[in-house]
Amino acid sequence: MADYVAAIDQGTTSSRFMVFDHDGAEIGKHQLEHSQIMPKPGWVEHNPVEILDRTSSVIQTAMNKLDLEAGDLAALGITNQRETTVIWNKRTGRPYYNAIVWQDTRTDKIAAALERDGRGDVIRRKAGIPPATYFSAGKIQWIFENVSGVREAAEKGDALFGTTDCWLLWNLTGGTDGGVHITDVTNAGRTMLMNLETLDWDDELLGFFDIPRQMLPEIRPSSDPNLYGKTLKRGPLQGEVSLAGTLGDQQAAMVGQVCLSAGEAKNTYGTGNFLLMNTGTELVRSENGLLTTVCYQFGDQDPVFALEGSIAVTGSAIQWLRDQLKIITDADDSEVLARTVTDNGGLYFVPAFSGLFAPYWRSDARGVIVGMSRYNTGGHLARAALEAICYQSKDVADAMEKDSGSKIDVLKVDGGITANELCMQIQADVLGVEVSKPQIAETTALGAAYAAGLAVGFWSDPEELRQNWHESRRWNPQTSDEQRSAGYAGWQKAVQRTLDWVDI
Ligand code: ADP
Repeated sequence: MADYVAAIDQGTTSSRFMVFDHDGAEIGKHQLEHSQIMPKPGWVEHNPVEILDRTSSVIQTAMNKLDLEAGDLAALGITNQRETTVIWNKRTGRPYYNAIVWQDTRTDKIAAALERDGRGDVIRRKAGIPPATYFSAGKIQWIFENVSGVREAAEKGDALFGTTDCWLLWNLTGGTDGGVHITDVTNAGRTMLMNLETLDWDDELLGFFDIPRQMLPEIRPSSDPNLYGKTLKRGPLQGEVSLAGTLGDQQAAMVGQVCLSAGEAKNTYGTGNFLLMNTGTELVRSENGLLTTVCYQFGDQDPVFALEGSIAVTGSAIQWLRDQLKIITDADDSEVLARTVTDNGGLYFVPAFSGLFAPYWRSDARGVIVGMSRYNTGGHLARAALEAICYQSKDVADAMEKDSGSKIDVLKVDGGITANELCMQIQADVLGVEVSKPQIAETTALGAAYAAGLAVGFWSDPEELRQNWHESRRWNPQTSDEQRSAGYAGWQKAVQRTLDWVDI
């Protein structure tokens, strides 16, 4: 058996390729950002061809840097930004339109109409998620309605839909020359088209969006001993490697954090934040604005479910400080700037740029900065941006504790923002619980590698994965209960100001 397992992590801001050994230790990686295309307020697109090119480059560069060959890899996993929608022509391999990103709100009218006429409740019941701009089906409908010829091509079987896992898998296994059109249950579950009980596309849900079934990929387990396919000799790995595991990024982080028992939870801090709790093989339906989602399915075992609280804007608020306001030059500077002050100076920032996701689900919300006085500086705004990341996580953690009936004792964290010590301390303070970070912060890629490695027997069972988890850093709460509740009360008032800002 080869010594390593690799993973492609196709994220919202970048694509990376990582190689892990049997202990789950990172051997090496390479990463490249891709363009964020924002043609209008609320619209966010990616170029799927650029994503494919960047992915190929990061694979080649990492393999060269590490002096590895395809034969050194026992398997390859894929994890991806979920919901982001690509439709392409299976004969030419060309996308009909840019990928419409999960954060994009152009489908707000489609989502509002679903809610008004009762279809929203059917989607909630069957798919476990509310009708929202976030999920793929509305994005497919928008492309049908706005890009000529796509619906006809889909009906003829020429147009294929996929999230970016599926787009990459199709291309890596041959593209127009016999590429496989496959996705996994965790990605399929984010479209509003998959029935959570049958784990198959649901005709009634397809009918809501008028989506022909033949454009949809086959749904397979997240870790599949039957393999999805193999990479091509003429592809970026220059050899055949088994493609055997796919997980949406948040579910991958659950597996990478070995949250494999009911009650275990993690929070990932990236472009957005995603707090998930494993609920075992039981489907727990949320009464507090959370999503019910497939956490993973390993081979022919029963699927494991999770409750999820998704937050649209956390790291991207830091990008906004950098790219739009230009008060910092890179993301790390947010900590330096925020440390120039000792508190938020009364200023709250709710970055509801694309509405509010969990637990509010208000696509009409828009961002606010409130409580400003002449005294405030960029330091206060940077601090308020970090606090917003943590307060939004608290909103979701509270909802999760209500739905599951269990309290989060220690919050496992990962993702780019966990490099920000101040932000993690604020998180412990705001929640009043300990925050724990593993040695491998790249849990998303690790989870995909685990899924692929389990499928080919590189790891024998999930218990073996637990041995690989080691803590690197822990933050303990340092504020009093009074400080905590006063701070949170200010946040809740600020959130109120974001609601009903725009009429749809
Ligand atoms: P994704 O997988 O969603 O692309 P990452 O986990 O790579 O995201 O995290 C990138 C996000 O984290 C960016 O939005 C960036 O602004 C933010 N970020 C990275 N480092 C820091 C930091 N030190 N402090 C605050 N935010 C950060």
